[in-house]
Amino acid sequence: MAETNISTLIDRIGEKLDGYKSAGLSSFVSSSFQSHSLPLLHIISRFQPEIPVYFLNTGFHFPETMAFRHVIADLMGLNIIDVASPVSKSGQRDDQGKFFFVNNPDHCCYLNKVLPMEPVIAQHDVWINGVRRDQTKFRATLLEEEPLADGKLRYHPMLDWTSKMIWEYRTEHNLPEHPLEAQGYLSIGCMPCTRSFQESTGARQGRWAGMSKEECGIQTEFVKAKA
Ligand code: SF4
Repeated sequence: MAETNISTLIDRIGEKLDGYKSAGLSSFVSSSFQSHSLPLLHIISRFQPEIPVYFLNTGFHFPETMAFRHVIADLMGLNIIDVASPVSKSGQRDDQGKFFFVNNPDHCCYLNKVLPMEPVIAQHDVWINGVRRDQTKFRATLLEEEPLADGKLRYHPMLDWTSKMIWEYRTEHNLPEHPLEAQGYLSIGCMPCTRSFQESTGARQGRWAGMSKEECGIQTEFVKAKA
């Protein structure tokens, strides 16, 4: 898409954020701090840097990700808040003593991603989320604004951005790269569930390799809840 169209999309994001603020709505962003997450964070820092950015600290992240979020916070002047599961790691093992991510990753994602997100959503009105249609089949079905339960809203400002547009924005603004990208990691989540490109068959396939699972639950659980 042409650069002018990117500018138009950015203006629209600014208008949306202004609209929520003018209406007295409280917004927050969630981010996994991957390279492709940075355009949205950068755009938010240009318009409303005070909007809190929540990071789901599962306890299973790569040390590189943990360090990178501090680099980005300093670079963009963001207000990053870690949230963690209310269930301790000792309560996240099955009968054989194995962490749930080994045999039941859906439950592990529920404990570490869905559960801790619930009180965050309850505190705010608008959840800004950087999903894109070109990432998964489920994301392709989303609307720019998705109503959630209890009158909350999820706003997807990057829905129609492509990976090429993300790359163009990153290049234009000289945004840094997640340190693991250079090692072939294109979609980076928790360590146990992430594979490098060489070990998998494509960008999203780097997550939960060998399983049909494509989503961690925070994208699907809350949107489904509106029905
Ligand atoms: S991505 Fe893997 S380790 Fe992380 S919460 Fe989900 S199942 Fe657990």
